[in-house]
Amino acid sequence: MATNTVTQRLQEAKHVVVFTGAGASAESGIPTFRDALVGLWERFDPAQFATPEAFRADPSLCWGWYEWRRNKVIHAQPNGAHIAIAELASHVPRLTVVTQNVDDLHERAGNQDVIHLHGSLHSPKCIDCGIAHTLPLPTDALPENGRRIEPPRCTACNGYVRPGVVWFGEMLPEDAWSAGLAAAEECDVFLSIGTSGSVYPAAELPLRALGHGATVVHINPERFDISSQEHFLEGAASVMMQKLLRESFGDLPA
Ligand code: NAD
Ligand code: ZN
Repeated sequence: MATNTVTQRLQEAKHVVVFTGAGASAESGIPTFRDALVGLWERFDPAQFATPEAFRADPSLCWGWYEWRRNKVIHAQPNGAHIAIAELASHVPRLTVVTQNVDDLHERAGNQDVIHLHGSLHSPKCIDCGIAHTLPLPTDALPENGRRIEPPRCTACNGYVRPGVVWFGEMLPEDAWSAGLAAAEECDVFLSIGTSGSVYPAAELPLRALGHGATVVHINPERFDISSQEHFLEGAASVMMQKLLRESFGDLPA
């Protein structure tokens, strides 16, 4: 249930931060980290694809997995949560969207200047020299799940092209991290939506916001422990965000 406190803080807020994790895209059919274990890929741990060493050890297996994910995103549509978050921008003086997601569903719902802490599936680059590479749109349906795909080669140095996502052990893009941190420390309301809070340093942001006096609200269908100062809205992101918007501003997303 959206509490009176949360709706009141949202109505009074000058700067709202929306911080999303994989759960915000789950209702668009994009598997969360855990869900990705289901299916033909179940014999692989997605975390095993999330290091430069894993990519170098078996580039085709790793690239095939990311191509499968990129195609899933291209065929997906923003869900009610993305739409409500975009709608929120018209109700508050300032909205900053900070995401751990590597899809572009916030942008496609209408949010501008989304801060991508973990990069994007749509911005691949050379693993050796770092030059950006443009990928063609897929010409057919989803590639077969579990298929190996040879990665393209860099036009400058002939190295393999790798996904433009942040892997374990890699630094977050400096601009994105400092902008996300500044927004967390400056906002009045911090909505943390669909994240397990297990990937650091991103998971520090709600704590930073709380430490700087923001009202911190977690939206998740699975309850987890929070401090007595934080709020928990239990439910799916689309349902809870639309409800919060309606109760705070008497409006429904278009
Ligand atoms: P996670 O998979 O660790 O956690 C997902 C969270 O979403 C869980 O707490 C789950 O209970 C919750 N959830 C599931 N369905 C939901 C719904 N309908 N509404 C609201 N919440 C829901 O994901 P994470 O915390 O984002 O961290 C994992 C990492 O994996 C991230 O760094 C991210 O970059 C990456 N990832 C990204 C995508 C994407 O871009 N869509 C997908 C999978 C993983
Ligand atoms: Zn190169």
